[in-house]
Amino acid sequence: MTTQNNDGKWNPSGGSFSFVLLPPVSQTPLAYTFYAILTLIILWLVFALRTRALVRGQQELTHIVAERTAQLEAEKTALDTARRELRDRATYDSLTNLLNRGTVLESLQHEVSRSIRDNTPLGVVIADLDHFKRINDTHGHLCGDQVIREAADRFRAALRSYDLAGRYGGEEFLFVLPGWDSHQAPERTNRLLDAIRQCPFEVAGTELHLTCSVGAATFRPDMDSPDILEVLRRADDALYRSKNAGRNRATIDNAEPSSQFEHDR
Ligand code: GH3
Ligand code: MG
Ligand code: MG
Repeated sequence: MTTQNNDGKWNPSGGSFSFVLLPPVSQTPLAYTFYAILTLIILWLVFALRTRALVRGQQELTHIVAERTAQLEAEKTALDTARRELRDRATYDSLTNLLNRGTVLESLQHEVSRSIRDNTPLGVVIADLDHFKRINDTHGHLCGDQVIREAADRFRAALRSYDLAGRYGGEEFLFVLPGWDSHQAPERTNRLLDAIRQCPFEVAGTELHLTCSVGAATFRPDMDSPDILEVLRRADDALYRSKNAGRNRATIDNAEPSSQFEHDR
């Protein structure tokens, strides 16, 4: 290498100098390490954010599913309740909670078929409150309702668990008693009479002494027609006889003319 001095003379022996060319800071190993660490941090951040978003999404979804499930369950419960209420309304009398007229008559038909199949007698009993109109007239219809409700409860309590009890009309009740035995019939009808007459009814602060009349008919599978209207007519006739004989008594039609009898207090 040749050099030239300030006078423009060339130095043929030449000159030399040495230097180290440093890379820019952005290209040093430390910078690359930094870049690598930064890249890792960014990747980790992206991953963490993405995971968090996914977890949040999952939580939201779980929440929505739980909410919807609870909503569906509430709708199902409401539907079940409505269905049960509808069935109850079609089955039970709303004032007394006894079977309504239609259902107790259906049950009677069912029990008559069972009585024929098992060859066992069946008791069909009608009870009617005595002089009930007076209660409505004196204390009002609402008090009358209260008496009907309590009478129904008392009758229910006087029956066995497998006896069937229904509201046949206004203050008239129909009972279907499987396993009816004509020897025990007076005792069983007496229990119904006692249910009403033994304790006074308390209505609007007043004690009311009530009685009822009962008509019973025995359905005998070997003798009677399977038509329920026939046995109902006989129970109704027996009730009519109880009323005519002075009320507060039971008349039992055992389907044997000689065994018809009446009993009272
Ligand atoms: P008897 O001794 O002959 O049976 O006399 P009674 O006054 O009880 O006469 P009856 O059985 O014929 O009359 C029943 C009355 O019951 C007539 C009706 O006004 C009343 N009644 C019917 N259904 C209801 C009801 O749901 N609530 C009330 N409060 N009264 C009713
Ligand atoms: Mg009556
Ligand atoms: Mg009546």
